[in-house]
Amino acid sequence: GRQAMVAGNWKMNGLPQNNSELLKALAQKDFAQLSCALVVCPPTVFLSQVGNELPAEFKLGAQNVSAQAQGAHTGEVSADMLKSVGCEYGLVGHSERRQMHHESNSDVAEKTLALLQQGITPIVCVGETLSEREADATMTVVLQQLKAVARVLSTEQLAKIIVAYEPVWAIGTGMTATPEQAQQVHASIRGWLREQIGEQSDNITILYGGSVKGSNAAELFAQEDIDGGLIGGASLNADEFFQICQAAG
Ligand code: 13P
Repeated sequence: GRQAMVAGNWKMNGLPQNNSELLKALAQKDFAQLSCALVVCPPTVFLSQVGNELPAEFKLGAQNVSAQAQGAHTGEVSADMLKSVGCEYGLVGHSERRQMHHESNSDVAEKTLALLQQGITPIVCVGETLSEREADATMTVVLQQLKAVARVLSTEQLAKIIVAYEPVWAIGTGMTATPEQAQQVHASIRGWLREQIGEQSDNITILYGGSVKGSNAAELFAQEDIDGGLIGGASLNADEFFQICQAAG
């Protein structure tokens, strides 16, 4: 069986005081009763702070990583630096990075490899825009994104990734994909993974992201191939986030 997971992507929100308050509120919740894996991805500059204050049930994740190992890359942060502050997970290829910071499919692939080489589990974000969906190009786009990653990884490395399907039109819009829409893409992703790595694809966690809330998490996570969520806005509220985690079991 595969591991259910809920990961909170805090994006560019919070200052030390807000972080502490949110972590204190999370510490009040009974996360220990849940069996899903729990991850928070704070802004890079707060990884150490959040790592120090994080409830024991949670793991630390980064929002981005450099593909480079070291050197003259002003403003960038390498995978071994992330590891040194306790990151066990890292997001790569979030649509905001792809759109606003012009990350290509091959950039995302190199970042995925950089994380794996440090023993950090990559959460590879994929997803189509509204116009791509309307042009019936959803799976073409998603598989192009995944194929670029698979091209630079060994079979063993590919078996270690987590995939987050985040339709761009659902991110921060309140327009959640329906459980059926999401399940269809998740099943296709898993089918493609099976062609690449065989039965091991059954163990790959595939998260859904895009306007997940306490009120819609359960019906999404009930789908066969939806193994949890990557949560933006709702991860900044302890009550809402806990509700979502409960839905993942
Ligand atoms: P929202 O949950 O705010 O829609 O964001 C989803 C997301 O982008 C998580 O990475």
